[in-house]
Amino acid sequence: MKVKDIIKSLQEWAPLSYQESYDNSGLLVGDRNLEITEILITLDVTEDVMREAIDSNCNLIIAHHPLIFNGLKKITGDHWVERCVTMAIKNDIAIYALHTNLDNVATGVNQMIAEKLKLRQTSVLSPKSGMLSKLVTFVPDENLDEVLNALYEAGAGIIGEYEHCSFRVEGTGTFRPGEKANPHIGEPLKDEEVTEKRVEMIFPSNVRRGIVEALKKAHPYEEVAYYLSVLSNKNVAVGSGLMGHLEHKMSVGDFIVHLKDQMQLKVIRRTAGVKKKVQKVAVCGGSGSFLLSKAIQAGADVFVSGDFKYHDFFETENKIMIMDIGHYESEVFTKELVCNFLREKFANIALRLSEVNTNPIIYD
Ligand SMILES: [Zn+2]
Repeated sequence: MKVKDIIKSLQEWAPLSYQESYDNSGLLVGDRNLEITEILITLDVTEDVMREAIDSNCNLIIAHHPLIFNGLKKITGDHWVERCVTMAIKNDIAIYALHTNLDNVATGVNQMIAEKLKLRQTSVLSPKSGMLSKLVTFVPDENLDEVLNALYEAGAGIIGEYEHCSFRVEGTGTFRPGEKANPHIGEPLKDEEVTEKRVEMIFPSNVRRGIVEALKKAHPYEEVAYYLSVLSNKNVAVGSGLMGHLEHKMSVGDFIVHLKDQMQLKVIRRTAGVKKKVQKVAVCGGSGSFLLSKAIQAGADVFVSGDFKYHDFFETENKIMIMDIGHYESEVFTKELVCNFLREKFANIALRLSEVNTNPIIYD
């Protein structure tokens, strides 16, 4: 098993194109062709985590937070990030980060929090736009099923909970094959007219290459006519934050006990209990203050996230309760999430959860 095999699988789950513009997810250090001994899964890469990887003979570290975030202009060992990179290179350890691309997957970081809090009917709080494309192509009747099935198989035609979504209308295709052409229908240098179906389908932009390959493989024509366009529609399966419902309404006090139990918290920071009961809960792993207005708009009673600043707490306007559980605490279960994903995909790969508590914050 090579690093690139793991990367391929991780990118099918959390494509790099899902990451935010400021992010630096992906393979940060190391060789894609490295044969993996064991994988270490961590929230952060620190010098302690690097030593853990070396001591346990792990040569691939999968981290949530990218070790290299703002770029490196030198690697002298003056800064802890430089020292980690040096340790990785000297010990032939690859480092891969799955950050906001995993935050933005509906089955990612926030789903893990939602499961811990036993939230149901979850939906993405702030779906991303620009993640969907449209294919238009023209297919002769007798090849329609074959082409459609190939496109479905490649990931086209999914809208929310519906698959095999397409639209088709009949028309006439015209063409004149050139002298050197080898046409499926017609003859060189002779105008041809064929009854075709114009087919339209939506697909996630990140699978564009596979869609075009599948189309060309299944379509009978030598030259396949097709148009691709990026849509401004939102993709409800991709985006930040998650909204969910508790099975039964809870008092604020009971919800706090539930939250602390499930997320293993000693302390939370919160605003006053403006709601008598809690049922609709918005969550966002890590720093979620940028989603506060979305959580209010969605009618959440509580917004569970981390890293709120003093002034953010004023912005609740008595419409929602902020419960700040801490950045590390909101994401520490991401290690399990990644581990469970890889365990299901690869039965024979050795996986280790980092035992280093990388939280730089101590509560006294
Ligand atoms: Zn984070």
